Amino acid sequence: MTLIDGKAIAARINEETRASVAALKARGITPGLAVVIVGDDPASHAYVRSKEKTARDIGMHSVKIELPRETTQEELLAQVRRLNADPLIHGILVQSPPPRHIDERVVIGSLDPRKDVDGFHPVNVAKVALGDPDAFVPCTPLGCQRLLLESGIQIAGADVVVLGRSMIVGKPLALLLMNKGRGGDATVTVAHSRTRDLAEVCRRADILVAAIGQPEFVKADMVREGAVVIDVGINRIADPSSPKGARLVGDVAFAEVAAKCSAITPVPGGVGPMTIAMLMHNTVLAAERIGK
Ligand code: NDP
Repeated sequence: MTLIDGKAIAARINEETRASVAALKARGITPGLAVVIVGDDPASHAYVRSKEKTARDIGMHSVKIELPRETTQEELLAQVRRLNADPLIHGILVQSPPPRHIDERVVIGSLDPRKDVDGFHPVNVAKVALGDPDAFVPCTPLGCQRLLLESGIQIAGADVVVLGRSMIVGKPLALLLMNKGRGGDATVTVAHSRTRDLAEVCRRADILVAAIGQPEFVKADMVREGAVVIDVGINRIADPSSPKGARLVGDVAFAEVAAKCSAITPVPGGVGPMTIAMLMHNTVLAAERIGK
């Protein structure tokens, strides 16, 4: 069984991105990433900190805009419009989820699609569906695809089951893996909470991707012998034996599934670091495209 080391692969990709940043700087363009966060959700703040830190570490211009929970939708939209017009900013990300009084779809729709490095704007969603190489592809699905490619796993012709159909992970990942060309050409099934005979559907997979947000949901009896398993889930569960009283687990029951599959990603240290690496990659792409 191969442990797919997302942390090491992400570190390698970040080095490549650092070189691209240096090349852009030599042309007078410093890639700039703005991360906007509304409210005080601790998990969201932790994600934003690591995005900001990585951006800085690889030489980007990194801006964090923290807005109070009471920020109105109009104020947030005004902030996005300012960033859309700011020539020093090439990538904009509004950390999800915003407080409930803000309609996330309206906010995402107000982003300049050329700066939408999260790939959530309808223009980029459509481009991913079309297989347009100019799309900004959402970072987590892009990271999953890249993990498979970097690990030399055969995607073309493979039976892939994607468990979960969110717009952030499942749906775009299914599109990526079924699109024509490198990193695609798979036969993709998307399963969700209404899927019948879920275990049987999962057992068909050469590559099984779990993105459902249910701790250790995928058990060994749902996985075919020798399958590749990508665990996107990040779930915090109580653990009295840990100093913090909690620990992170994925959507896959790691130990029993690892004993059965040919390759698997750990949680943490699998898909998570790849998501951030792909955000950096997308920001460089944005700077290259806008900076031309
Ligand atoms: P969502 O809650 O938006 O979507 C979950 C999906 O899983 C839905 O399609 C839902 O089905 C399906 N689902 C839920 N429960 C079941 C079940 N029991 N059986 C079958 N399908 C089920 O989650 P996200 O896509 O945003 O995130 C999924 C997981 O990935 C989470 O743990 C999240 O923390 C993690 N994540 C990790 C990232 C990373 O960087 N590693 C980035 C983003 C997310 P239905 O549509 O029918 O409701």
